[in-house]
Amino acid sequence: MSKKIFFQDIPKEVGKKIDLYGWVYSIRAHGKITFLDLRDHTGIVQVVVPPDGTHPTFSPEDVVHIVGTVAPRPEHLINKKIKTGTVEVQAEKSEIISHSQTPPFPLETSGYDIGEDIRLEYRYLDLRRQRMQRNILLRSSFVQEIRSYLVQKNFTEIDTPILTKSTPEGARDFIIPSRLQKGKFYALPQSPQQYKQLLMVAGFERYFQIARCFRDEAQRSDRAYGEFTQLDMEMSFVEQNDILELVEDMFTSIVKKLFPEKNIMQSPWPRIPHAEALKKYGTDKPDLRKNKKDPNELAFCWTVDFPLFTKQSQEDFFHGSGRATFAPSHHMFTSPHPDDIDLLDTDPLKVRGLQHDLVLNGFEIGGGSIRIHKPDIQQKIFDLIGFSKKQKQEFSHMLNAFTYGVPPHGGIAPGIDRALMALLGEPSVREVVPFPTSASGKTAVMNAPSEVTAEQLAELGIRIVDE
Ligand code: ASP
Repeated sequence: MSKKIFFQDIPKEVGKKIDLYGWVYSIRAHGKITFLDLRDHTGIVQVVVPPDGTHPTFSPEDVVHIVGTVAPRPEHLINKKIKTGTVEVQAEKSEIISHSQTPPFPLETSGYDIGEDIRLEYRYLDLRRQRMQRNILLRSSFVQEIRSYLVQKNFTEIDTPILTKSTPEGARDFIIPSRLQKGKFYALPQSPQQYKQLLMVAGFERYFQIARCFRDEAQRSDRAYGEFTQLDMEMSFVEQNDILELVEDMFTSIVKKLFPEKNIMQSPWPRIPHAEALKKYGTDKPDLRKNKKDPNELAFCWTVDFPLFTKQSQEDFFHGSGRATFAPSHHMFTSPHPDDIDLLDTDPLKVRGLQHDLVLNGFEIGGGSIRIHKPDIQQKIFDLIGFSKKQKQEFSHMLNAFTYGVPPHGGIAPGIDRALMALLGEPSVREVVPFPTSASGKTAVMNAPSEVTAEQLAELGIRIVDE
């Protein structure tokens, strides 16, 4: 099978006898002749099966092997809608490699009207539909383009641990019990925030990672429950403007390449102070499209000058201590505006943060900030958000690291799922994620979470308490 010819290349093989491997997409009978549309991940090709009694009876979605000769189609039968529309393959020999039973739902439609539970249960079939194939292939190209853009700008791709410690991004952690140290737990990272800052201390001046992040919070249309993927970035010796310009240039060049039909409405992207956004648009993620019905309009903008803090109960933020205090608008590592440092002592709610949110067509598709790199300011923020001695201890590694020569740094993390959802005009991130979890937190196909054995629990020193 290593000689597999991808269907998109078949028009180059006119006159040749080739081996086709793929799925039966549709079957049409024309008198005694059968026309098959065969599908692989590059396209569809028409196969003509003669009634010579040597061919099997095909069913939709069978995996087949067909030997046949590529013939040009007569002018009036050319199908301009498919890449192989100028040719067809005259089948000589054929076999069914693997028979398919009738799929539980149609695969030749967009799929929007099919219940999501069943689509996720049979995701491996749902992904066969053309729209999902396009979304996943584009996702791959999108990530490839990001990589080549950033590598060319001197970024280093570095991965960071998944088994780690609670990282405060304002959501609930997923925790993993430790077998070796019973009673202790890892947390899945809500983002690689602390690691990427430590990488700046380590001297990797430009870092990125296509990072999986985990947050135990309610599912929304713009965030799947459980996990999502971010383009996590961090840079040393930069100002906010450098980050904004780089991200704008990166998205602009990728959109031009992968979505040539889309039109970026305004360039440079507007930068809107938070207070102005609220006043003018009633939201900090305004949808600046002129015509919201036009699928090809892309209106990017930045929201900047956020207040560093919001008044919020710490209960909401850290799920536990219950003291009412200031909560960071972004996260606790965001630098206060240098002109507002004195206000930290006198009027913290007036302090602006060096935070930037990236907005596309009314969706927040990324957020970031210039970070605090001075241990005394970081201490002060910990105090203002009401950290106890013990909570501060949990972050002592950051304060410690900052005593060994830390470059000023900042970054951002655009969401891959969210950006693709907005770029493709899909109604939910789950349309661009191969195997998303359902609203109730059930994983696609595999149906996790599930019970574990009594032995596994005993090994971890865990007992399940009935509520
Ligand atoms: N860690 C932040 C987040 O996940 C992004 C950043 O500040 O770079 O939202």
